Order: sequence, then C-alpha cells, then structure tokens
Amino acid sequence: MRRIGLHARSAGSLAGTAERAHDLGANTLQIFTSSPRMWRGSTHSPAEIAALRRVRERLDLAPLVVHDNYLINLASADPTVRTRSIETFRGELERAALIGAEYLVAHPGSAKGIAVEQALANVVEGIVEASRGLDPGGLTLLLECTAGAGAALGARFEELRALREVTANLVNVPVGFCLDTCHLFAAGFDIATPGGLRQTAAEIGDVLGWDHVKVVHANDSKGALGSRLDRHENIGEGQIGKEGFRRVLAHPEFRRLPFILETPMETDNDARRDIDMLRTLCQRSRTITQ
Ligand SMILES: [Zn+2]
Ligand SMILES: [Zn+2]
Repeated sequence: MRRIGLHARSAGSLAGTAERAHDLGANTLQIFTSSPRMWRGSTHSPAEIAALRRVRERLDLAPLVVHDNYLINLASADPTVRTRSIETFRGELERAALIGAEYLVAHPGSAKGIAVEQALANVVEGIVEASRGLDPGGLTLLLECTAGAGAALGARFEELRALREVTANLVNVPVGFCLDTCHLFAAGFDIATPGGLRQTAAEIGDVLGWDHVKVVHANDSKGALGSRLDRHENIGEGQIGKEGFRRVLAHPEFRRLPFILETPMETDNDARRDIDMLRTLCQRSRTITQ
C-alpha cells in the first residue's frame, strides 16, 4: 500500500496530532517533537506515548517521522552554537526513539565560514557525541538532501554519502537518507523530465545506494532547476509539475518509499488537496506506461 502523508502541525497531544493527520487522508506522518525554532525541548509522558502508539495501530499510521529542530547546526565551528546543537540534537534522538518513531530526519548543517571538509568532520563528531550511550530502539537517523542555499551541506550526494559512511561505523543508530523533491530540483537534479529522473535515480543508486533511502519529502519547487532556492510549492503548481510528480511516484525505486508533504498549508483543505493530488497521480501512473 502506498504511504502518503504530511508534516502534521501539532494538535496538542501526540495522539491528537496523529489522528488529525489521518483525518486529512494521511497514512504516514512527520512531526516536530519540540518547537522547531526554540532550543528547549519538550517532554512526553508515558501515557501520552502509549496513546500515540494505540492511535497509530488503530489507524495504521506508519512510518512516524520526526524532523529535527531548525536551529541545530552540527557543522558549526562556533563553540556556543556547537554545544547547543549537540545537546539539542541529543534531545531530538532521545525523544524520537522514546515515542517510537521509525525515523529522525536531520539537515546536515551549514559550512558558513569554514571549509566543507571541516564542516563534514564537525557533523560526524557532533552525531557521534549526541548519540553516545543512546538506546535507539527502532529509530534510524536520516540525513536529508538540501537545495544547497548559502553554505548548506547536503546538496551533493557525495557529501551525504561521506557523512553516512563515516558516521555509520561510529554510532549505534542506523543512518540513512531522506530525499526532498524540491531540494533535489533546486540543487540541479532535473527530476521533472523523464531523462533527468532516470539520470538522477541512477546517481542516487550509485552514490547513495537506494537501500539507504527511506523517506521522500514530496514538495513542488517554486525555484527553477539549479536555483538553490529552498521554496516549497503545492504539488503540481511548481516547476516539477503534475507530470513530473506522476513519473516520480511511478518510478520503481521511489514508489516503495513513503511520501511526506511539506507544502504550504494554510488550511486543512490545502493539506487534503495535496494528499489527494499525490494519490490521484499514483492512480494515473498505473494506467500510463512509463
Ligand atoms: Zn524536506
Ligand atoms: Zn525545504
């Protein structure tokens, strides 16, 4: 069964948030476990966690993905930012494992002011330090590809591969990847055309390894191909377009992955429309030969 869902805004409790995602048509979801723009994390009671588990079982909501806090920059060389980032990331790992999430999605970080090699080494050390002694349970850490705005790491597959390969040997939490369709396109991977999709998929296989890719963020792109602009658009209304998404959804490697929307959603209707759009495009791809 296709897994299609969205980044769900908090509806108070974890169980309530999951229930609302289901009401909007989702059978997988992503959440924040703390305010994404504040350093302090939140705590979840055992009762709240048990309620979430029950709701997920009853409504068949899987996987549960947690997105990490936007302020975290494990690549930073600034001692204050670094200490805070590692502490906060530790909290993200602990909470995601505790609530039974399958995945924690993390942006690799920004190399602003330092060499890329140093930034990558900082990220590895940061993940190692943050995950020391952690009981990961069923949690896998996913490094997300980025649009490459500013000095953002992760717009090149080689960087993501290097991070995974080095980190995987040093930590006891499994490490994989999350692909974001908007970020791919903005980083210069032309997934909007049949040839470009084929080439990008081959590169993903060669450099990242499809086995390590676990989640797709499904976002259309406001910015042009290679613009490095991280601006999400509703499905079919951006530069990737409906046909582009239809082909991505039908691709033999992409199609086995959960698709999670992070598109502009002012109202519940916006959310329903994008979920319906992805499901409709899945249907259509069955009737059209590639
Ligand atoms: Zn994303
Ligand atoms: Zn983005």
